Amino acid sequence: MDFQKNRDEVFQAVAHATREAHRPHNSVKIIAVTKYVDSSIAKELIKTGIDHIGENRVDKFLEKYEVLADENLTWHLIGSLQRRKVKDIINYLDYFHALDSIKLATEIQKRANKTIKCFLQVNISREESKHGFMVEEIRQAIKAIRNYDKIELVGLMTMAPFDADKKQLDEIFSKAHALQKELSQLGIANMPFTELSMGMSGDYKEAILHGSTFVRIGTAFFK
Ligand SMILES: *Cc1c(COP(=O)(O)O)cnc(C)c1O
Repeated sequence: MDFQKNRDEVFQAVAHATREAHRPHNSVKIIAVTKYVDSSIAKELIKTGIDHIGENRVDKFLEKYEVLADENLTWHLIGSLQRRKVKDIINYLDYFHALDSIKLATEIQKRANKTIKCFLQVNISREESKHGFMVEEIRQAIKAIRNYDKIELVGLMTMAPFDADKKQLDEIFSKAHALQKELSQLGIANMPFTELSMGMSGDYKEAILHGSTFVRIGTAFFK
């Protein structure tokens, strides 16, 4: 694998999509999702110029963190988190992308020693298999979480169906963007809602067109 080449291709494609969307240069941050490889291979990729690293599982996150904690990275947990594992990981995170229940928020509030930047995961596509709040549950979540000083709701995270076509992607990503803008207007102190975590290797261009500020990319780095 030529990591430098893959890295440069991904960064150039993201920059291109950002220009096409008439958005400011560097307004989209790229999270390298290293879940497919072990720590030593992840380290090789990181040396090519990576600032943000993401893992979807607690055990794999901790494995990487042990080896790469000194690398000046911003650490993202992008996958769902079981309540009983919150205490093992929460204080190593910079960003948590999959806040999907009020009970989980309550456990984070209890265990965190610092404020954790969190994304509310929202199930825009309404797929049965997907985690996340339904749109109509979000108001209630906000009401519960607004009193939690260890949680900062920086934005929304969503995932499109694996086999979504262009039309479905546009629909899902534009709905998420509209909802994020609406929530940002609420002006709640610990809920800026300025960010949108959406877009993976197969759909980040569409996500950037619809306002994504964090793309989570794995496969494209490891081909
Ligand atoms: C694996 C994963 C990604 C990256 O997916 P690729 O298609 O490999 O780019 C993004 N988000 C989440 C939540 C993931 O689990």
